[in-house]
Amino acid sequence: MIESPLLPNLTGYLAGRWAESLGGATLAVVSPANGELLGRVSAAGGEQAASAVEAAASVLARPAPPAQRQVWLLAIHDALLANQAELARIITLENGKPLKESVAEVEYAAGFFGFFATQLDHLAPRALPDRIRGCHWTVHQRPAGVAALITPWNFPLAMLAKKLSAALAAGCSVVTKPASATPLSAIALWTLLDRLALPAGLANLVIGPAGPLSEVFCGHPAVRIVSFTGSTEVGQRLAQQAAPHFKRLALELGGNAPFLVFEDADLEAAVAALIANKFRAGGQTCVCTNRVLVQVGIVGRFAERVAERVARLKVGDGLDPATDIGPLINRDGFDKVAAHVANALAGGARRLAGGDPPRPAQAWGAFYPPTVLVGVEPSMQVCAEETFGPVIAIGGFNDEAEAVRLANGTPYGLAAYLFTRDAERANRVAARLRFGHVGVNTGTGPTPEAPFGGMKRSGYGREGGLEGLLEFCEPQAIAAV
Ligand code: NAP
Repeated sequence: MIESPLLPNLTGYLAGRWAESLGGATLAVVSPANGELLGRVSAAGGEQAASAVEAAASVLARPAPPAQRQVWLLAIHDALLANQAELARIITLENGKPLKESVAEVEYAAGFFGFFATQLDHLAPRALPDRIRGCHWTVHQRPAGVAALITPWNFPLAMLAKKLSAALAAGCSVVTKPASATPLSAIALWTLLDRLALPAGLANLVIGPAGPLSEVFCGHPAVRIVSFTGSTEVGQRLAQQAAPHFKRLALELGGNAPFLVFEDADLEAAVAALIANKFRAGGQTCVCTNRVLVQVGIVGRFAERVAERVARLKVGDGLDPATDIGPLINRDGFDKVAAHVANALAGGARRLAGGDPPRPAQAWGAFYPPTVLVGVEPSMQVCAEETFGPVIAIGGFNDEAEAVRLANGTPYGLAAYLFTRDAERANRVAARLRFGHVGVNTGTGPTPEAPFGGMKRSGYGREGGLEGLLEFCEPQAIAAV
């Protein structure tokens, strides 16, 4: 069992207090590395979710001014950084990712609170310069209302931080549901919030099976926005559930990121960027490269350099400082990766690195070796679907037009990367890529300061940047005589 000063209670947080256990239902949190039971968290159902929404709605009757919200945001930012090491340990224990990545995740999470603390001036009312229709006009950014936040397991702290920071900055109150596999990071964050003595009901945490909780979030009239990060399938379901109530939705869904390498690219830089981008969280991020497309003249050379680098990566327990790649979240994740690799090999792809690891006998311990495949085709599962694992799948293209066509040949549109020394080509190709985030000569992912989100089946809405703040606001125009 996990012992941590940040986990004094393994339960949710409602109306300014730790939630009481209801009927003894619990959720077991298990280390993906070794199966150790980390804790049993009391599970909430629909009734607790409704109480949380009502607590959140009641606090909106006494809105906090922007200056107060700024104080809270900065205090949360500082509390996260002051507890960075312990938060990182909790992330690694429940998610499995290498400790160095968890340390970076805490800093990334804190960055959203720090950034939004600097953005509140943008919410000041805007007066229109002209008297129109005989009236003075002002545009106000009002808080959208109660915000329901649903987050996945791959960044147990950062995904939550992105939403919570923007919602609080906008003046919303929140009800949050973290992934059932990784609720401990959320509880640790709420321990820090509890110490800050925020108004009761401002930030509520409900942990439990998704179905009954999301039914409340989508159906309760007080919830005005549902912000979700996770799979496209669940995003679709939420859109259907929320449609009759005209709730706003922000959906950060799955991706299928292409990584284009043109013949004139700096190959060493492209290889290094690919390795850093691809193996973050063991390949289980929505912005991880899924398809590498290399101009035909350099495919062989590029693939060999990648395979050499990949052979040096160490797979193991995330708590071991030497580990580069931790376990996949569970055996289902392992099965998907193994099936994609088998499908590619059966279709004629060659494996330059990796192997056939034994299928774990239980849900945990899903270690998969970093794998490099060359000669993949767009129709193979490894290209057509999001693999969500440590597999680099390399295919080819002949010219710029084909590169753009192949890159856009997916229903997803979250992140894309391109490498070329030709600045004009970079601008031309970036403008034609239907992805919300494009890296030019870099594999860098999102940052608090810039809007991040998807096109097409990767969802709508943005997180980070001013756009991420406005997601939680509703504009109101006032015409006054
Ligand atoms: P998931 O199954 O969709 O789960 C995400 C969250 O949704 C969890 O909290 C989950 O709760 C909840 N959920 C499950 N079923 C639900 C339902 N019927 N109604 C409401 N909520 C429900 O996704 P995942 O497997 O955890 O995450 C991987 C996916 O997320 C990938 O496709 C990845 O690309 C995407 N992702 C996208 C971004 C982005 O920014 N676009 C970032 C990270 C990940 P339980 O855990 O209780 O089931």
